[in-house]
Amino acid sequence: MLLTITNTNPPATDLGYLLHKNPSRVQTFELSFGKAHVFYPEATADRCTAALLLDVDPVGLVRTRRGPAGEGGMLDQYVNDRPYVASSFMSVAIARIFNSALAGTSKGRPELVNTPLPLSARIAVLPCRGGEAFLRRLFEPLGYQVKAEHHPLDEKFPEWGESSYYTVEIAKQVSLQDLLTHLYVLIPVLDADKHYWVGKDEVEKLLRHGEGWLQAHPEREAIVSRYLRGFRKLTREALARLTEDESLDPDAEQETKEEQEQAIEAPLRLHDVRLDQVAAELKASGAKRILDLGCGEGKLIRELLKDRQFDEILGMDVSYRSLETAAERLHLDTLPPKQKERIKLIQGSLMYRDKRLAGFDAAVVVEVIEHLDEPRLAAFERVLFEFARPQTAVLTTPNAEYNAKFETLPAGQFRHRDHRFEWTREQFQNWATRIGTKFGYSVVFKPVGEEDQRLGAPTQMGVFRL
Ligand code: SAH
Repeated sequence: MLLTITNTNPPATDLGYLLHKNPSRVQTFELSFGKAHVFYPEATADRCTAALLLDVDPVGLVRTRRGPAGEGGMLDQYVNDRPYVASSFMSVAIARIFNSALAGTSKGRPELVNTPLPLSARIAVLPCRGGEAFLRRLFEPLGYQVKAEHHPLDEKFPEWGESSYYTVEIAKQVSLQDLLTHLYVLIPVLDADKHYWVGKDEVEKLLRHGEGWLQAHPEREAIVSRYLRGFRKLTREALARLTEDESLDPDAEQETKEEQEQAIEAPLRLHDVRLDQVAAELKASGAKRILDLGCGEGKLIRELLKDRQFDEILGMDVSYRSLETAAERLHLDTLPPKQKERIKLIQGSLMYRDKRLAGFDAAVVVEVIEHLDEPRLAAFERVLFEFARPQTAVLTTPNAEYNAKFETLPAGQFRHRDHRFEWTREQFQNWATRIGTKFGYSVVFKPVGEEDQRLGAPTQMGVFRL
């Protein structure tokens, strides 16, 4: 099974930096279902193609299967199309082997990560249940040009008719991250096979990878229902194998970036000051049930636990890895039951309405909004202020004006590589005031950390009240 990705933007070999795979090398990776090879059939300044070749081992697949035989019995287990077509295996391989590119990070070419490039992807064999029309309905609304070549079941027996297999090429001026994300979600949707694996957090994974495009996609319902197909057939085998995919959390590099931000802010002990001040606001509001949205590694939760006023704390984050660290640092598995009952950690995205967030007295969103794409803030605003609708909401974000005071931070750069924006006080206050008016909240602004007369404080805080 072969997927190739071609860049024609000179120097086209920058594709190697974006994929974190050197064009001059052939690399092989072991996966639980076989091997994957990455190599470049062409790598010139004008045109560079990376190939991901999957060598699925059908016998190995059957041997490691612990559950009962599949619907088709033994024959179906050994004789099937899995080794030859793009399927959810391809998505697992993309997530595993191109994980930094899928997460939108590049050490060598950070400036290219969000740049639309003239890219095309070719999938040698893709089963398209629903035919070419459905294939086009999936990719064309996203702006792709689609070429599809249909294959007969058997060239020697045309009377057998057409198969569901296509050679597919899609092309668009698009960032590599978006291209990989679309392939990651839509390949298994087209394949819609019963061998499809789904894991406990597959819903969250779909929502995370669907951020920014799935919501508005005209085939949204078909995509979601097909992607989650077989959800009920969750088997131990699927779970065991999916742990592989989980370790491919796109936050693999999050930790180093977090360290970078801490190093810049460390001399101010800003993180502790911020958490103390947020905790004090919550205390003063009288809130008992607290939402910590984008809770990260749970530092605020640890503070809040010390105060009996807070009898329920729900921490949510999009990063599974951060939640695992939070659970460890909070010693969740050894806490006395009474303490443990007060905390719940869930995976979720602030981009989506979520019933689990309703009915809380207060929500805090500490140093999170600057991680959200600015054009998508509107979704977050509704999720928090319209649907979750707590009495009090405390938001903090860096004050960009103060960056001039950080000696180690070059002018014009953000404090954290994952920040999508950093606002001046005026920008934050304009935004917050507009949101307050729109959703019926009053807003008060407070500085966090030592204030500079001219530049203000390093962090800015908005306290919203219904
Ligand atoms: N509030 C924590 C962590 C801040 S770092 C603290 O102050 O220590 C930002 C956090 O936001 C990260 O843990 C990141 O995983 C999370 N995040 C980023 N985008 C998100 C989204 N769409 N939904 C939920 N959490 C998100």
